[in-house]
Amino acid sequence: MAFKQKEVDKLLAATGRRCCVCARLHGVQVHHIVLPEEGGTDDIDNAIPLCPNCHDEVHGRPGRGRTTRSYTPEELKAHRQRTIDQVAREQRWAPNTSEWEEDKKLILFYAQCLDRPAFRTHFHLELSFSDFDKAMEDTIIALNTGYWSTRDGTLIERARGKVHITHPPWRDKVDAISSIVEEIRRRFHSELGLDRMLIHWPLGHFPQLGDRMDRRFRRDRAVGSWMDKKRQEAIEIMNSMLEEIGLRGLPAIDE
Ligand SMILES: [Zn+2]
Repeated sequence: MAFKQKEVDKLLAATGRRCCVCARLHGVQVHHIVLPEEGGTDDIDNAIPLCPNCHDEVHGRPGRGRTTRSYTPEELKAHRQRTIDQVAREQRWAPNTSEWEEDKKLILFYAQCLDRPAFRTHFHLELSFSDFDKAMEDTIIALNTGYWSTRDGTLIERARGKVHITHPPWRDKVDAISSIVEEIRRRFHSELGLDRMLIHWPLGHFPQLGDRMDRRFRRDRAVGSWMDKKRQEAIEIMNSMLEEIGLRGLPAIDE
């Protein structure tokens, strides 16, 4: 039993040879949505390109008592359709198309998330380290989900997360910015020893940490210059996109 080669070729082209679940490009094979032994046919509508990891996961049979849900055929077909739509949008993408306009709106939204004192102030001049940590956290949430809120949780703006960027090079760049901000936050927590605590509490739960942060970070210029360098990297990646769009970049860390 096998799918018709011609139809497989068409499906692989339409999905850009991506795994339809995780979008990875490596080792993608065409699999049955409903397995032949469970009555699945060789009709191309029963086919989905998947990477080996996702293939294992899709056909994994959760043991009794496990809460992980199995993939249903309907869900897999929805993933396949989403992938086909995404590839079609990428092919239409060109400056001034509606796909470009939508990407531009998202990039401007993310740029606004970086356009704040927490990305501009030298780390050793930072007035509140817990505000700094919160700003990094808010930025990660905004890049991933499109939720942009103030400290008390009021929603300022709702856009969409970075997976919705159509143009792959821009999607990669926003991914890189997000990784840098996560790295900053990890280092910040590890310098404070928070990564060794069993439970993660918001920093506000530890009022005494305020002093500890002050002593720790105002003394250690090495941490500060690393933090400055990392934030500068994130700003420069953002500015390379703003420049492509034809806009002025964000200001660097204060001279
Ligand atoms: Zn996959």
